[in-house]
Amino acid sequence: MMMRIDVISAVPDSLISPLNTSIIKRAQERKKVEIIVHNLRDYAHDKHKQIDDKPFGGGPGMLLKPEPFFECIEKLLCERKYDHIVFPTPGGKFYDQSIANKWSLAQNIMIIAGHYKGIDDRVREKFATDEISIGMYVLTGGEIAALVIIDSVVRLLPGVLNDSESALNDSLMDGNIIEAPYYTRPAEYKELKVPDVLLSGHEKNVREWKAEQSKILTEKWKKINKLEK
Ligand code: SAM
Repeated sequence: MMMRIDVISAVPDSLISPLNTSIIKRAQERKKVEIIVHNLRDYAHDKHKQIDDKPFGGGPGMLLKPEPFFECIEKLLCERKYDHIVFPTPGGKFYDQSIANKWSLAQNIMIIAGHYKGIDDRVREKFATDEISIGMYVLTGGEIAALVIIDSVVRLLPGVLNDSESALNDSLMDGNIIEAPYYTRPAEYKELKVPDVLLSGHEKNVREWKAEQSKILTEKWKKINKLEK
């Protein structure tokens, strides 16, 4: 069955172009995934379609109100079961390839994007099954985090990537390993040369060179990110 991803957003326009470009667009055309963006404002019923309000207890900024989220999420939950209801938040578990690999096996995923100062916490408390951070920085909204999650999951779905784009040997697909660098024509450009071994046509030497380069890049990556040996 085709995977379905629902995203609930206060600024749905920010999702439209990235979801309708390149491989993610093709994945939808190939019916590998259905991605539905819900405009939070469609679930606000007062005269001004208000979706935000001041936080109780004071402080700067506006919060997204609970009622439109509750209405939208409850409607979706009546229609189907979700494997993951994801709340992107700086306070969540760090997102990584192993999570993307696991979620690529899911049937239905819902992503609740915060905006402004965030969302009334009752929405997280009531519905979120997975609180996810995409890094140690603060974004203006959960939409970019949603796009990161969607992109990394959808490219893993069978039939989405063509052979030449295969995900299997990408960095981090097989544990904490960084891939060797790639080069294409021309073999020399502005006096910068492609390593001779790649032009040699000697398969075993190329394989050994790639393994060695991958080891060097992986060690460097671990060192600059202060990861364990
Ligand atoms: N007041 C919130 C806090 O201090 O945790 C930050 C709100 S942020 C300006 C607005 C929204 O962006 C959040 O509700 C969340 O959905 C999203 N967001 C911001 N940084 C994120 C990150 N590192 N990972 C995932 N989502 C993030």
